[in-house]
Amino acid sequence: MKRLLLSALLATLLAACQQVNTTSGGAVGANRKQSMLLSSAQVDQMAAASYADTIKKANQQGKLLPDTDPTVRRVRAISDRLIPQTVVFRPDAAQWKWEVNVEKSPELNAYCMPGGKIMFYTGIIERLKLTDDEIAQIMGHEIAHALREHGRERMSSEYGKAIAMQGGMQLLSIATGGKYDAYQDLAGGGLNALVDVTYSLPNSRTHESEADLIGLELAARAGYNPNAAVSLWQKMAAQGGGSGPEFMSTHPSSNTRIAELQAKVPVVMPLYEAAKVKATVSTPPKKTTKAK
Ligand SMILES: [Zn+2]
Repeated sequence: MKRLLLSALLATLLAACQQVNTTSGGAVGANRKQSMLLSSAQVDQMAAASYADTIKKANQQGKLLPDTDPTVRRVRAISDRLIPQTVVFRPDAAQWKWEVNVEKSPELNAYCMPGGKIMFYTGIIERLKLTDDEIAQIMGHEIAHALREHGRERMSSEYGKAIAMQGGMQLLSIATGGKYDAYQDLAGGGLNALVDVTYSLPNSRTHESEADLIGLELAARAGYNPNAAVSLWQKMAAQGGGSGPEFMSTHPSSNTRIAELQAKVPVVMPLYEAAKVKATVSTPPKKTTKAK
């Protein structure tokens, strides 16, 4: 009986699990099959709700910078150049409902949630004295996580574990006549808990490496100097290990990361040079990000 239930559960999981490649490889060659248990629509919906909630709270606390703020303008000018480049990796990103905001907070943090919801904290810009090229590297890296749907991949993995755990609990319940049923609630924490769990875990080295490379290419194509990726992570490293700042606990800086980026700079340098030439002969890019 137990074995039958377990194999039925595994069969359901496997049937629901899709193998996909969320983006094309680009010049940097980021190619890897990903296992997905949740759909993009489910994840994007959760992310949009979570982002709207964050914006609302920040606004109530007077921490959301207005559209007229110079830092908001600066960050949005950079996203206006980066976002059009995303179609190189996935054409559907042009139709995403991108949003870009800045929150007043001393924390070193920035993120892009699934579906293109970007947030920068003033702390990371001011304390690291970021140049536009360096902001573009962080933004490119975070956008890359969204394009590759790393959030969906991680949530799928956590969801799979939760389902397996819940299945295990049901088996235990049958075997023990309901003696440990109270523990079932822990396993079935719901989809919202999943968002929290996923975003508190450190990114895997694989995801970080993909985001670094795709981010580097996005920034280069938008006309931002690829060497800034190296100076950025050196600045991060100078802030000390993963102990304090939020961003570094999920994005550990290391010599390996810096060396990998350094090695890819020559690959994307021609894209940067071409973008610079193009910028001098054409009009400024169209505004794509909507004010909230
Ligand atoms: Zn990352």
